[in-house]
Amino acid sequence: MTSIHLANLGKTFGSFTALRNMNLEIADGEFVALLGPSGCGKSTTMNMISGMIEPSEGEILFGERDMRGVPMSRRGVGFVFQNYAIFTHMTVYENLAYGLCATGVGKAERERRVNDMAEFLHLTALLKKPAAGLSVNILQRLAIGRSAIMEPAIFLLDEPLSNVDAAFRAVMRTELKHLQREFRQTMVYVTHDQLEAMTMADRIAVMDHGKLLQVGTPIDVYNNPSNVFVAGFLGSPGMNLIKGRSVASGEAMCIDLGEAGLSAPLPGALFRGLPEGKAVVYGFRPEHCELTDDDGLRLPVNFVERIGARTILHMGQGGHSIKGVFDNRVPVRQGDIVTLAIDPSNIRLFDADTGAAIV
Ligand code: ATP
Repeated sequence: MTSIHLANLGKTFGSFTALRNMNLEIADGEFVALLGPSGCGKSTTMNMISGMIEPSEGEILFGERDMRGVPMSRRGVGFVFQNYAIFTHMTVYENLAYGLCATGVGKAERERRVNDMAEFLHLTALLKKPAAGLSVNILQRLAIGRSAIMEPAIFLLDEPLSNVDAAFRAVMRTELKHLQREFRQTMVYVTHDQLEAMTMADRIAVMDHGKLLQVGTPIDVYNNPSNVFVAGFLGSPGMNLIKGRSVASGEAMCIDLGEAGLSAPLPGALFRGLPEGKAVVYGFRPEHCELTDDDGLRLPVNFVERIGARTILHMGQGGHSIKGVFDNRVPVRQGDIVTLAIDPSNIRLFDADTGAAIV
């Protein structure tokens, strides 16, 4: 096992900055997901860790060892890409055994490891089959096995499940997590799929526009996003984010959501320290509200989205879409006016100018 230390890491391509000032510690045996939208710099980070490209600035350490100038083949990393790298003219067995042969692992040891890995990844029945005839799903499972069998200290996976079908992806999420636990590798996993990151990773590193925005356990990042981008990016649907302004109301501070066309200011005892007139973004997750007959946000229902176990109500006016997640029996129809009560402990406030979390 090996820890990874990224210090002030940056990468420019010509005049374009793909990554700037990235600092991240990944512990021995930890599973960290780099999560963010397309083009945010995830693969660039990964390619620098693997040694495929050199950083423009900053350092990469594996344990205590500086990786500057160390070629990919000497870094002890396993790498799995979105597109499986499989020798289609070989059998499944030969593919799994390939790296072991190349590094001089003896026959008995080779057979044991191939059989163990095949069993682990449910490939035993296919060992004698040529890879050429296998489905995309199985090929990607084989690609993972082929890399994992080398027991690299660091295992890098870049969108390994984006070409497989949804049902298989769900199975592989569990298997990859088991694999990492079994082999106790330090794993870095690039994905734009929050479900993959949330379900597998010990910690998530959320990135956007070449910047690392937040690192934490999945639940911590979900519950306490450090800024507006992370709040909206995580969750399906993401956090409701409404622009407003703090106003004095008797002893307490309230948030006037006038910009959203919402008439009712919200009680803001939580935000006593806020200066009056501060432009804020008021956030709450769609699952943290309920329908009430008392006071609350009165909103028209624009669309009722029934998705099996859950119903998502799309509400709002003045171009703002506020979503609430309810169970599938919620007795609401399109055009109804509902009143939302928002769980005060789950309200999040962000600075409208910087996007940074206030509460
Ligand atoms: P995706 O999931 O789409 O691959 P990503 O988060 O992995 O996204 P990167 O591949 O790291 O993003 O790319 C980050 C930015 O750097 C993008 O704008 C991309 O176009 C740019 N980029 C990456 N490699 C190069 C290169 N070799 N030359 C010029 N620009 C590059």
